[in-house]
Amino acid sequence: MNIQALLNYDREHLWHPYTSMTDPLPVYAVESASGVRIRLMDGRELIDGMASWWSVIHGYSHPVLVKALCEQAGRLSHVMFGGLTHEPAVELARLLVEMTPDGLEKVFLCDSGSVAVEVAMKMAIQYQIASGRQKRCRFLTIRGGYHGDTFHAMAVCDPVGGMHHLFAGVLPRSLFADRPECQFSQSWDHRDIDSFARLIEQHHQELCAVILEPIVQGAGGMRFYHPQYLRQVRALCDTYGVLLIADEIATGFGRSGKLFACNHAGISPDIICLGKALTGGMMSLAAVLCTDRVAETISSGSPGVFMHGPTFMANPLACLVACASIRLLLESDWQQKVSRIESLLKQGLAPCRELPQVEAVRALGAIGVVEMKAPVVMKEMQAAFVARGVWVRPFGRLVYVMPPYCMTEEDLSIVTTAIVEVVAGEGRS
Ligand SMILES: *Cc1c(COP(=O)(O)O)cnc(C)c1O
Repeated sequence: MNIQALLNYDREHLWHPYTSMTDPLPVYAVESASGVRIRLMDGRELIDGMASWWSVIHGYSHPVLVKALCEQAGRLSHVMFGGLTHEPAVELARLLVEMTPDGLEKVFLCDSGSVAVEVAMKMAIQYQIASGRQKRCRFLTIRGGYHGDTFHAMAVCDPVGGMHHLFAGVLPRSLFADRPECQFSQSWDHRDIDSFARLIEQHHQELCAVILEPIVQGAGGMRFYHPQYLRQVRALCDTYGVLLIADEIATGFGRSGKLFACNHAGISPDIICLGKALTGGMMSLAAVLCTDRVAETISSGSPGVFMHGPTFMANPLACLVACASIRLLLESDWQQKVSRIESLLKQGLAPCRELPQVEAVRALGAIGVVEMKAPVVMKEMQAAFVARGVWVRPFGRLVYVMPPYCMTEEDLSIVTTAIVEVVAGEGRS
């Protein structure tokens, strides 16, 4: 198929994320990708600043991951997980239990991040029911969050930036504390927790769990908040018998500079959600881990089982690739790579601070953010990046990158230079 025919058919028939079917933004056709480069069908190459939404931490077509996938495809590509098990699932569970914060011992494998959030929320509800507290079925979260696009996940996304207005009639009503104002590297102001503390104190008898993204609020605003906030949330959850669900779907596997963002605060949640980089971006897989206490309570209540079981649960291809990706990560000097990216992002993006159209510039781990004062025109900005050989996809007021950890200093400098130039040109054309 020639490129134009492909793009035409795409435009006529394919939904893309958050797009119109009658007036879609342009898309670029990809032929292949390797390392940090995406190759377009027209022959152009783009250095990827997005890691395909946090996931491709080792770069594209990594030979170790490709080999794992191919070998497993010839052995056992899928088998139902009801009544059967296999080495890729068991090995993945072992790796996850070992590497995640202390106390997370029981593993539920599912298909995608949003499903993992649903699974975690169902666990919290079943836990409270099994504990004889049926009334506890609401969730408390913080403003500015993003947890996915399925219904209960939407219900805890930011109430303004999320989809609440549209689906108001069908969404469960969650409680929202003010978003943390103290930034990651600022000094702690104890008043920052007041709104959260008030809500949990007033409503704990109807709350089953708190769900939040630890330290890094991703798609809801790309903000990095103070570890003390998270420690206080943990303590308040314990005081009021409310579970803490950490959504580490974006932050897991080293992205924020620690293996998991919870490690910045030295806390363990009762339930953790993992996804995105779990398979190194090779395919979709997510995991929910919980404590023995949560698992045993659910299993001791009625009906004595956890009520979830997707068709492709623990898919062996995805599990084996996840094992290979985790080993690649743990055997690499990822900490050094991520902290080097952090300092290069800080340096490279610093010139944006001088620009009048820029509100703020920040970096944490392998995440760099330029927050604009006004929303960007995505179509134009996207084209300006592609013209510079770079793949960066801004949204709203945010121009941000989270490159694969293997990006060289040279490539990263091409990315940050492009951001400075494109942001500087914004609003001038
Ligand atoms: C991406 C994301 C999700 C949703 O994951 P999907 O795989 O897109 O369903 C949930 N929570 C956070 C924090 C995310 O970044």
